Amino acid sequence: MYACGPTVYDFGHIGNFRTFLQVDILRRFLKLIGTPVRHVMNITDVDDKIIHNAAAAGISIGAYSARYEQAFFEDLDALRVERPEIMARATEHIPRMVELIQKLAATGAAYQAEDGSWYFRLASFPEYGKLSKKDFGGMEDGARVDLDEYEKDSARDFALWKAAKPGETSWETAIGRGRPGWHIECSAMAMEYLGESFDLHAGGEDLIFPHHENEIAQSESVTHKPFARHWMHVRFLLVDGRKMSKSEGNFYTLRDLLLKGYKASAIRLALVSVPYRHQLNFTFDGLIEATAAIERLRTFYQRLVTGRFADGSNPALKTAAEKAQADYLAALANDLNTAEARAPIFDLIRAANTAIDQGQLLAGDRHAILAVLASFDAVFDVIEDRDAEPTRRALEWAAQTGRLADVAPELLARQSLTDEAIDALVAERTLAKRQRNFARADQIRNELAGKGVVIEDSKDGVRWKRK
Ligand code: AMP
Ligand code: ZN
Repeated sequence: MYACGPTVYDFGHIGNFRTFLQVDILRRFLKLIGTPVRHVMNITDVDDKIIHNAAAAGISIGAYSARYEQAFFEDLDALRVERPEIMARATEHIPRMVELIQKLAATGAAYQAEDGSWYFRLASFPEYGKLSKKDFGGMEDGARVDLDEYEKDSARDFALWKAAKPGETSWETAIGRGRPGWHIECSAMAMEYLGESFDLHAGGEDLIFPHHENEIAQSESVTHKPFARHWMHVRFLLVDGRKMSKSEGNFYTLRDLLLKGYKASAIRLALVSVPYRHQLNFTFDGLIEATAAIERLRTFYQRLVTGRFADGSNPALKTAAEKAQADYLAALANDLNTAEARAPIFDLIRAANTAIDQGQLLAGDRHAILAVLASFDAVFDVIEDRDAEPTRRALEWAAQTGRLADVAPELLARQSLTDEAIDALVAERTLAKRQRNFARADQIRNELAGKGVVIEDSKDGVRWKRK
């Protein structure tokens, strides 16, 4: 499968990551059910916006895009998005793009304009519009557009190759000096790694037209074979019911949310809990709900792993675990319905918690329930707590880039407390209690609570965790 990757001109926002996360859900689900996956993602490291921003910053496009490419990988890691098998940079595949344009030119589907740029001749591809189901019957032959992104209703010959302009990065090639358009990149790189026809092509819904329509036209004009057999388009993320935009003040990068103190795992869960085919309305309440759901999962997992249970097994729990597993897989198999997939897992947790409370969960049940949690986590990947690292890195980044003012005060307070300092305070509290100095013990508990650390007393001793 091929998934359109980022244009590395800025930090990724949560809309971008929703799309990458939904594709991650697909690849993980395929692997879970035993389907081998070869997943290709491009990095668009040359385009109109990169050229403009690099020039404004007075650096080369390579230096400019490298910074955001690295940030993109850090963000993928924070969100536990698996790396595709192949990551392909546009600037490293220029010869493939040139070859494709030459093939298009040979059949008359591409032509060179007066300024040296090459365009795709829409009139040569009567099926144009078949993906977006737009009818371009009345289009004006020869009208051209040379922007990478353009209006949704314009059917015009689009740029395959843009002739060099003074001061812009360009490549000397057999079709002249210039640089590729955005659309030709994806056709060339998809076919390079996956062949002329492949199983699935993914991206956000905004890419249906013109980007994917153009990819089809460029590729099928040369191969006369279906380009992608299936398309997966992730519906857009809205924030508080509105389009996310900087001018609306409702625009968030992953880093913004980490600095507000939200956990990477909660952001991951919040962004995937609504199936890809539906719009996701992102809200802070949703993020808090995801945080609580993860807390439930983790607490239950700990209880199951560390609990001491009597020998034997409980047939009712065995049946419940089997049903949860079957319902979970069926929901994902049903067009990746992530919302329905969550429900049976939480039902099982409820049933198992009740059984533990009543002494009816037995040692033999542990394994069956852990297996269900493992298959849940093979796709959702939120149970193991790896949240400290992304938060630490985000804070480090904020310090380096002068953004400490954006950090939530509670997060700063929490981070100022090391694990060793917490251990010392917890030990002091235990001693205070033993000496019946309850005032001091309570004082320590409150102080830690104020910094987001909760103490749990149990018969096995005292444990603490960060909220
Ligand atoms: P870009 O870096 O702008 O090319 O976008 C990278 C990916 O994010 C593409 O697949 C876009 O379709 C997707 N995308 C952009 N905005 C949103 C959004 N608000 N919701 C979901 N996906 C988005
Ligand atoms: Zn693409």
